Amino acid sequence: MSVAYLDYNASAPLRAEAREAMLAALACAGNPSSVHAAGRAIRQRLAEAREAVAELVGARADQVVFTSGATEANNLALRGYRPDGRAPRILASAVEHVSVLAAAEQIELIPVESSGVVDLGALQRMLAERDWRDCIVSVMAVNNETGVVQPVDEIVRIARAAGAVVHCDAVQAAGKHPFDMATGGIDLLTLSGHKIGAPRGVGALLVGEGVELRPENRGGGQERGLRGGAEAVDAIAGLGAVARLSGRMLEDHARASALTARLESEVRRLAAQAQILGSGAERVGTTSCIALPGVRAETQLMALDLQGVCVSAGSACSSGKVSPSHVLRAMGYGEGVADCAIRVSLGWNSTEDDVGRFLDAYGQMVARLGTAA
Ligand code: PMP
Repeated sequence: MSVAYLDYNASAPLRAEAREAMLAALACAGNPSSVHAAGRAIRQRLAEAREAVAELVGARADQVVFTSGATEANNLALRGYRPDGRAPRILASAVEHVSVLAAAEQIELIPVESSGVVDLGALQRMLAERDWRDCIVSVMAVNNETGVVQPVDEIVRIARAAGAVVHCDAVQAAGKHPFDMATGGIDLLTLSGHKIGAPRGVGALLVGEGVELRPENRGGGQERGLRGGAEAVDAIAGLGAVARLSGRMLEDHARASALTARLESEVRRLAAQAQILGSGAERVGTTSCIALPGVRAETQLMALDLQGVCVSAGSACSSGKVSPSHVLRAMGYGEGVADCAIRVSLGWNSTEDDVGRFLDAYGQMVARLGTAA
């Protein structure tokens, strides 16, 4: 059975351009650090990808540190920044991805409003309470579970005024929102390949002017000494190829957003009790967090999976189990809703047919389980 894949926020299908660039890189021998012709040739591919990734987010090529993905980039940002050699104090939003929450040694959580947007008043009060110079404020651009967009410009303004360094996990914003690291004043910015149609296992941390980091991975001095080890040029070439498609990514996003809008209005028609969580805030158009109160997320996932429809619970963890969503809890939802929400996320290759299959399966599920609630 072919599947209807509506789980782009977990991992998007590989774009053809990425596959081609990767195959071309895989055909080349050579270590990008070698001085000979083969080394220079593969180093050239690395340099081209670096330029493309920098351009995607309005940064300079020498600010890009390639990593194995966003988890590593978040760890490098939050553990590598050590003013005076000490672990930094970190102020992170309560809805950050676990790779931010787990990376920080000393963390204080900025609450969010019930819409999922960071409570800017609370941030201001927390920053006023003590001296946050040389500390990090870490807020994501777009939430992976709800699609809620954070007011990053405003957060940068507030954090900078208190002297803090700003880290932004932009994994779920790339290709959906044009943004500019330099004019936006972001010091550290995280990207992941597989959320935008590049391969799994590659990402980048962009390091702004004047920010000093200590490497987590020591070795041969690659990536300006910030990430030792021969670069994964094959995967990086794939990431570079996708980064070059910035205009197309935005077009594809607009098309997938229209499909998602239809999906949401049909869901509301099929199940009057369904709630779209985060819909009170600005959201990216391709993410829907849909609660069916009283029907647990894992039950919904299984019912949809049996029909070949792939979606996530807001909070699938690596073991495949569904654990309570800290994001939905932080928004104030109790068990009956937070544990009953699925995430539907569309992207560059989503079709009407995917939406139709989801809606058929969802309608059947609601008819069978929804009324029991
Ligand atoms: N941050 C966010 C917002 C994410 O959505 C994800 C992936 N779910 C990550 C970080 C981790 O990305 P990666 O798989 O590249 O480590």
